Amino acid sequence: MTAKRKDCSPEKMIRPIVRRLNAYIPGEQPKAHDLIKLNTNENPSPPSPKAIQAIRNAADGRLRLYPDPTCQALRAKLASFHDCRPENIIIGNGSDELLALATRAFVEPRQPSATSQQQLAKQTVQYFTPSYSLYPILANIQGARRNEVKLLSNFDLPDNEELRKKNWNLKAALTFITTPNAPSGRGYTTQQLAKLCAAQKGVTILDEAYADFASENALSLFKQNPHVIISRTFSKSYSLGFQRIGYFIGHPILIAALDRIRDSYNVNGLGQTAAIAALKDTNYYRKLFESIKSTRTSTTAELKSLGFDVIQSQTNFVFAKPPRLTAKDWFDSLRNDKILTRWFDTPLVREYLRITIGSQNDMAKFIAATRRIFRR
Ligand SMILES: *Cc1c(COP(=O)(O)O)cnc(C)c1O
Repeated sequence: MTAKRKDCSPEKMIRPIVRRLNAYIPGEQPKAHDLIKLNTNENPSPPSPKAIQAIRNAADGRLRLYPDPTCQALRAKLASFHDCRPENIIIGNGSDELLALATRAFVEPRQPSATSQQQLAKQTVQYFTPSYSLYPILANIQGARRNEVKLLSNFDLPDNEELRKKNWNLKAALTFITTPNAPSGRGYTTQQLAKLCAAQKGVTILDEAYADFASENALSLFKQNPHVIISRTFSKSYSLGFQRIGYFIGHPILIAALDRIRDSYNVNGLGQTAAIAALKDTNYYRKLFESIKSTRTSTTAELKSLGFDVIQSQTNFVFAKPPRLTAKDWFDSLRNDKILTRWFDTPLVREYLRITIGSQNDMAKFIAATRRIFRR
């Protein structure tokens, strides 16, 4: 190979915008099996036995065929589950894929020559900080402008009055709102979100990845607001991260736009099969959500009794700030004890650790290790 030839340097073949990109950093998926894994908000319980059986039943010679390109059966099932029409729903290879499609469909790349407020808004992806760290990456890939606005110091949502002071752009082409919030775990009321959505002029995606662990969700808002899209996933609450199934619910015209730009076979067949079966076992999942919420309550109480500052969580993780030691020290010590959590080295959150709610047994070990670390 003569990669030295000046006229064909691989680096120069890459679009400048892509050359400069940083990839999204997912939580570590360690090879070691003796680790207690509390770092990526996976569900500690297996998916419904019915979902597993459905995958087994489908794993035969039919794997040679392409899957249903429109996910018709799954969309019909979800439509009846959420009391809407199949035209309101698009399925993605995880909701991450749909968040990326939305950025491509609704946001213009940055044009340096743009000057009018309206042109600038059309090129803008907007979100709160801290929230899901994928959003800035999606904006950068699209070459769009980013408008990041800080949540309040307790991670609550600023009201419309406060947003006006904070440079929030109600006309931004695309706004992402993680609700309940990640990584803080804080929940927002439908009433709060309704007020914000009513003021928004551009597409507004309520990323409800953790809604099943919350006391309320804002699904109803898509019916009242044609510019509001609800994002959900089977990865966390349905224990199906391996299968990569997420979906959007929204106005048929917005959904159809996303449908036009997706890959023809974007959703794998076993994933479709598993998701349909999971939706037929709501009893199983209702118990599972309750059990995670109850472990969340006990974990929060334990940490508070040890002097930790814990954000009231509406998700399957807790966000906690330790006394005395830094969050990084706590993270490193837990890691030495083979317990993996998530620490984000960014200004607004580096004093906290995000700890996924694992099984009761996992959490007992986590609390015991934490007691040891802070007794030293
Ligand atoms: C996990 C997560 C997603 C992505 O879920 P997938 O469906 O697995 O792609 C999206 N948004 C938030 C806030 C998440 O935490």
